[in-house]
Amino acid sequence: MSLANGRHYLAIPGPSVLPERVLRAMQRPSPPIHGGPLHDMMPGLLSDLKALAGTRQEVAIYIANGHGAWEASLSNVISPGDHVLVPRTGHFSDGWAEMAAALGAKIETIDAGDHRPFDPAAVARRLAEDTQGRIKAVLAVQVDTSTSVRNDIEALGRAMAGTGHPALLMVDCIACFACDRFEMDAWGVDVMVTASQKGLMTPPGLGFVYFNDRAAKARDAARATTHYWDWRRRVAPEGFYQYFDGTAPTHHLFALQEALAMIREEGREAIWRRHEVLARAIWAAVERWGEKGPLRLNIADADHRSHAVTTVIAGDDYGDRLIQWCEEKTGLTLGIGLGFEPMEQAFRIGHMGFVNAHMILGLLATIEAGLRATGIDHAPGGTDAATRLIAEQA
Ligand SMILES: *Cc1c(COP(=O)(O)O)cnc(C)c1O
Repeated sequence: MSLANGRHYLAIPGPSVLPERVLRAMQRPSPPIHGGPLHDMMPGLLSDLKALAGTRQEVAIYIANGHGAWEASLSNVISPGDHVLVPRTGHFSDGWAEMAAALGAKIETIDAGDHRPFDPAAVARRLAEDTQGRIKAVLAVQVDTSTSVRNDIEALGRAMAGTGHPALLMVDCIACFACDRFEMDAWGVDVMVTASQKGLMTPPGLGFVYFNDRAAKARDAARATTHYWDWRRRVAPEGFYQYFDGTAPTHHLFALQEALAMIREEGREAIWRRHEVLARAIWAAVERWGEKGPLRLNIADADHRSHAVTTVIAGDDYGDRLIQWCEEKTGLTLGIGLGFEPMEQAFRIGHMGFVNAHMILGLLATIEAGLRATGIDHAPGGTDAATRLIAEQA
């Protein structure tokens, strides 16, 4: 007998759950790539992508995962020897910084640790000291998917503008795009990087780099941009072919088009609100469980928690034990404690994209069963706290 048989639920922070509509959009024979529907849908696709990010600027699409989009963004504006400032909040700020270092940038880190957001004022102070304007860019992660912290990009943009320093504000929104509020133009973001497989509900394989006119100017001065990553040709294509510098990712584009239609139908504000309420239900459950025993939310301050992913510290090897039990016994896959030492002490819940109240309540009840079955000490009533919140907020 197995209680895991039935629909499997992947609740890791990417790839996320694929909607049937998106899957169906991919169920078709290969289309022509020099004309026809693929060609015709590009203007609409680009305008949907821009509307979602709150920008009138440019977006380049790459056949790449988030790591590829990271490199694409950096290689357009960073030259070897450039100084880059990284307000660090976890594993994913480290990853982007390492990539910049590999491209020859000199990295300076302001470390906020693994449990809190960065301080925009600290970044502004550092920029104010840089009177010669040597720092080329600030690399900020909106949500660090390892710690589940949500950094205040709006405040960072304001603080940076206040210094009058010319550094570009570059933001990684891979974890939380279409989950947590983001306003590229209003917040003064120069470059934004995201990918298809999280809030965008599309299989991994598409990377996006948004950039404004300030970043475009920096591109003109950059000395090490490689041909494939160059964003200039991709946003001013004479032919469809040039959007992708080769064969278009045909089925991914149909999937993305459908996902963007779903997002347009629901509306940005409603999507952000849905993610917030579902996240609050998760926090309510974990906070109740943690009234006794070792469980706690990694980010103590609710104002700085992501609405797309939640990191729970369980202590010892409890994170790992719980993950294994849920997967084997119930068909629910939780995320590993990426970036924690030891990793086994933590687990993460991905709640991004195509998730609703009954999925999250099922997930929480399953975790509660896992806590019991694996003997992890906790206060009862976590799921009850979540149902109360859903009942009130729905
Ligand atoms: C997932 C993620 C990445 C990496 O994306 P890949 O597609 O796995 O390369 C980078 N940054 C953040 C914040 C992420 O959530």
